[in-house]
Parts: sequence; C-alpha cells; structure tokens
Amino acid sequence: MVNAIIFGAPGSGKGTYASRLQSKIGVQVIATGDIFRELMKEDTPLGREVKSYVEKGLLVPDDIVVKVLKQKLAKTSKEKGFILDGYPRTVEQAKNLEKLAKIDVIIQLKVPDWIIIERLSSRRICKNCGEVYNLRYLKPKVDMKCDKCGGPLYQRPDDMPEVIKKRIEVYERQTQPLLQYYKEKRVPFVEYETDKLETPPEVAVEEILKGLKRLKLV
Ligand code: ADP
Ligand code: ZN
Repeated sequence: MVNAIIFGAPGSGKGTYASRLQSKIGVQVIATGDIFRELMKEDTPLGREVKSYVEKGLLVPDDIVVKVLKQKLAKTSKEKGFILDGYPRTVEQAKNLEKLAKIDVIIQLKVPDWIIIERLSSRRICKNCGEVYNLRYLKPKVDMKCDKCGGPLYQRPDDMPEVIKKRIEVYERQTQPLLQYYKEKRVPFVEYETDKLETPPEVAVEEILKGLKRLKLV
C-alpha cells in the first residue's frame, strides 16, 4: 500500500502517469480536476461555481476543494492506497490533508515550460473516461476515439492558450511553494525529469516505479 501525491505543473503528465500507475500497482487515483469536470457537467449551483474558476484557469476555493476531497477519500478503500493527482494545490489544502491521511511519498515531475505549453495545446481528453491523449505524440488508435472505451475525444476549454498561461502562473505562485513544505516535513521524494517531448509514458512510469521500489513502497 502506498499513499502518494503526484506533483507537477499543468501538463507535466500527472494524469497520464497516475492512470498507468493505477493499473500497474493497483492504487486508486483521486484526481480533483476530474471530479470538478464531472461536477461542471451538472447544472447545479456547485457545478456553476466550480466552472467560474476552472474556465479562467484559477484555483477553486479551498473550502470547496477540501470538502470534495474528504468525501472522495471517505469512499476510497484504505488497503490499496491512493495517488492524489491535482491535490493539494495550496498550503491550506496540504494542512487539511494531514488530518485525513498519511502521505508516504511525493512523485515530482520536472518538465520545462516549453514542453508544457506544447503538450497542453495538443492535448485531447476522452469525454467518457478522462483518458489523456495528444494529437502529436500520444495519438488514439482510431482518430478522435478513446482506445479504452471508444468515447469521443475533446479539447478542454482550459487548454486554450490564454488559459494555459494563467494556469502556469497560478501553479508557480500558489502550488510550487508546496514542494518546500513537504521537504521540510521530510516526506520522501521520487523525482522524474525529462526534457523530451515524446518520451513514451511507459518509460516515465518505469522510472517512477524504480524510485518507489528503492524506497520500498511497492
Ligand atoms: P492540470 O493539472 O492539467 O492543470 P487538472 O485537471 O488537475 O489540470 O485541474 C483543472 C482545473 O481544476 C484547475 O485549473 C483548477 O481550476 C481546478 N482544480 C483542480 N484541482 C484543484 C485543487 N486541488 N484546488 C483548486 N483548484 C483545483
Ligand atoms: Zn475513454
């Protein structure tokens, strides 16, 4: 069992690697971005409020995020462990997490800015299951259809250039400081760094797994 946070800028590969780690080591992925995309499909006050932040590339307020995470964790099996993708994004969120679970490791993805922009602008997502594709180097087998479930692929509205810029800015200002926070808490890190756009996800995932094994976490 391992409780991990996968940490990195938007477009650094968190969702892509987390979903593959899920199939390899049986942990459950909890992705707050996915939870919010589901909520936004509903025409409810909460769905509309979440949308007003996400579409501008801003963070959803901590009180909402914390509540959503708590509910999700309560439904997650304790034996398997989890990978958090997209949570925490603020120190406030990290402090709340401490009350809910022990974190064994931070998986930190280090990717240069130019790759992030390149990836996000050609990223496509399955409307059904959220699987991530890329029109340039991680194409679906059948054009614009999900390999996993056959669902249609779409471009997230927040993957438009102006919103991408905002999300990177928000990441650097509000989320990056968390790295220092976890270093001070002495939580172990597994770092994965790449400066190649087309590194296959399998290669990245193998590297991450090696790191987890070194720490005897899997
Ligand atoms: P990425 O990591 O590619 O930016 P996500 O799918 O994780 O994308 O998040 C999409 C959006 O959902 C974020 O830009 C933000 O508006 C919102 N969001 C997701 N997780 C959080 C969080 N923990 N705190 C605040 N907002 C969040
Ligand atoms: Zn799918």
